[in-house]
Order: sequence, then C-alpha cells, then structure tokens
Amino acid sequence: MMRAVRERCGADYPILVKLNGTDDLPLRRAATSEELVRVAHWLQEAGADAIEISRGHYESWPGMIQGRYRGFIKASVTVGAATHGSAMRKMAARVVAPVVERVAEWARPPREGFNLPFAQRFTDSLDIPVIVVGGFHTRDGMEAALRSGAADAVSAARAFIADPYLYRNIVGEPLAERPVCGYCNGCIARFSGSRIDCYNPEIRGQREVMLSVVRRRGLSGPGLEPPRHHSANRSQS
Ligand code: SF4
Repeated sequence: MMRAVRERCGADYPILVKLNGTDDLPLRRAATSEELVRVAHWLQEAGADAIEISRGHYESWPGMIQGRYRGFIKASVTVGAATHGSAMRKMAARVVAPVVERVAEWARPPREGFNLPFAQRFTDSLDIPVIVVGGFHTRDGMEAALRSGAADAVSAARAFIADPYLYRNIVGEPLAERPVCGYCNGCIARFSGSRIDCYNPEIRGQREVMLSVVRRRGLSGPGLEPPRHHSANRSQS
C-alpha cells in the first residue's frame, strides 16, 4: 500500500505516516512497540518521508490520551462516539463513570510529551524523521522534547483546537491572553458525534477574546499580517 501511494504521489511529494508507538488495547493482544518499529521500517523502505508517533486506538481509551476525564463518559454516550452503543452498554458506562473517570485521571494526568518514550525507540532505529504528538502546548515543552533527542519534530492537536493561533502565540508576542488547552478532553469525548471544537467554556471564552483582537486589528492569515492590497489596484488609483 505504501509503495502504491508513493508511486501515485511521485518521488517529491512528502508522505508522513501516523503510527502508534504502542497499540495499548486493554485485555487483548495488540501490536507491541517492537512490532510497530518493524512496521515503521517497512514504511521507510517503501518510501515514507516521516513517521508521526501517537498512541492507542479509540478502543484503548483512556490509554490513547492523557488529561482530565470528569464528565467524559456522559459526553461520550450522549453526543460522542459511544452514542452508537446499545442502551444497556451506555447505561452500564454511566453507572461506572465516576470510578472509571477518577482512576483514569489518576493514572493518566495531563502531561506534555507523554509519547516521547515511544518516539525515542523509533528515532533510535529509523533514518527518516520522527514526529511526536502528545499533550504539547508550550514552547518550553516542545523545545525540551526536541533537545532530548527523542524526536525530530513535535505536533499537537488539542492545543490547536483551543488556540488556532498557537504557533503565532508561542513564537511571538501573544495576540491576547492565550487560550491554553486545559486537557479536559471534552473534544475527545465528543469526537465522531459532534464537530471538532473546544467544549471548555473557560477556554472558549479566552479564544473569543483573542479572536476579537484579531478581528479588531484586521489581522489575517497564518502569519496574521494585515491583508495587503494588490499593487495593480494602487497604480490604478
Ligand atoms: S475541549 Fe478544549 S480545553 Fe478541553 S481538551 Fe479539548 S481543546 Fe482542550
């Protein structure tokens, strides 16, 4: 499959493959890190340009993510991926929710770079660049991950949902008070049942303030420079 993708895309088209550092499936056999490193080698040989290391499947919750879990199960069974489960399973999930959510929060608290130990195994073994995702939201956290040598680059998801101008805000002067993801996992609980968005009222409020600053200052685009007028328009005036 990887070879077919490479042939179709051409030699100079960048192909990045997201791969688990561990499958982390509870109570059943899943691919181990050693096996996944072997898969990464096959992908490298077949033409992948980089590998992004993540963790787990939707079935491995809460192994897939780290953060806070209060209200996670209720949101998941009412407006998230678990809405498709049977009424009995949804009821059972809600009954055990208080205990399961507390245990998950204790076992997998918010932490930047929680996939770094897995990424290290791939970096040690592969020639192509390794990218790592997992709880990053600060410049310090990202730079420390790169300095550690465990990965060549970092990526983020929830942090960008909370702050669409994350990159601009951490490399330059913040646009306003920066909305920092609280890792409440409200967005993960709702995925596949609701649109991808931040569902934390406090963070959403901060994001609205920041976006109003962007609108007021007439900023636009990824670099947020003011929109430029076409030179031809000026020469006509
Ligand atoms: S709902 Fe918002 S604050 Fe909570 S994890 Fe998602 S992006 Fe972060």
